[in-house]
Amino acid sequence: MLDGMNDVDTNLPVTSGAANVAPVLRFAPSPNGYLHLGHAYSALFNDRLARELGGRLILRIEDIDPQRSRREFEAAILEDLEWLGVTWEEPVRRQSEHFADYELALERLNEMGLLYPCFCTRTDIANAVSSLHDWPLDPDGSPLYPGTCKRLSAEDRARRTGSGLHAGLRLDMSAALALAQDRIGWSEYGEASEPRDVTAEPALWGDVLLARKDVPTSYHLAVVVDDALQGVTDVARGMDLFSATSLHRLLQNLLDLPAPNYRHHRLIEDDEGAKLSKSQRSPALRELRAQGVSAAQVRRRLGFQI
Ligand code: GLU
Repeated sequence: MLDGMNDVDTNLPVTSGAANVAPVLRFAPSPNGYLHLGHAYSALFNDRLARELGGRLILRIEDIDPQRSRREFEAAILEDLEWLGVTWEEPVRRQSEHFADYELALERLNEMGLLYPCFCTRTDIANAVSSLHDWPLDPDGSPLYPGTCKRLSAEDRARRTGSGLHAGLRLDMSAALALAQDRIGWSEYGEASEPRDVTAEPALWGDVLLARKDVPTSYHLAVVVDDALQGVTDVARGMDLFSATSLHRLLQNLLDLPAPNYRHHRLIEDDEGAKLSKSQRSPALRELRAQGVSAAQVRRRLGFQI
């Protein structure tokens, strides 16, 4: 049986991750813009699921990136969710309050010999792979890291650090795979009530960056640490993050963290926005509101009954 699989409770339309624990779900927007219909679908999906499962919904603001996160967007997110009729458990969680937890996780991976510092810029990586024929891309479309800094000698590393160069931290994927359990997978519900087993393919991500030069963590590390800290049993998010789950499951495995159920839901087409908006193809919820569209109309259009 896969890690994280649990008995099915036949009284419920859908089943929750951890046996005997009230399900915990989360909606986790990044405050770098206004919420659109795609966010609305995800928030409503989580909200409905939390009610169906008799669970709690956490709102987590994913604000680790100081360049892109803005308090005004966070305020707008809360306002738009309230308008939409989504209810969450207070207090609102913020990733920026958990940097110490991310650091501990990095220390742990480092002690396991799984991290190395990387001084490369994006341009360095692009240059390094430009002459390599058919160099593979990761699921986000970035070239896999070619391992330049993995091959640096200890002296070289010390010299670069000594001269004030900033480094990110990369996961040594082959070492990580060697340490992890043979087969890592997860229970994938999609939008269905019964799960299927998915085998994780973390190698697709190569030596992924787990801490950036400018931010002492990364999306992948932060989300895994937070889901565990907050006791999330069911991660419901868009299909665009399906591939990221392979990496998240590897990190959970290495850090001994529980495996939530995953529910990757459909993505919303522009068309849905066009049908609601008088003027634009992919409007923000607040623009729809300004045009006189009601929250009930948005919910109906996205397939949620009032
Ligand atoms: N913060 C991410 C986003 O806004 C979502 C992350 C997640 O649900 O794991 O796309």
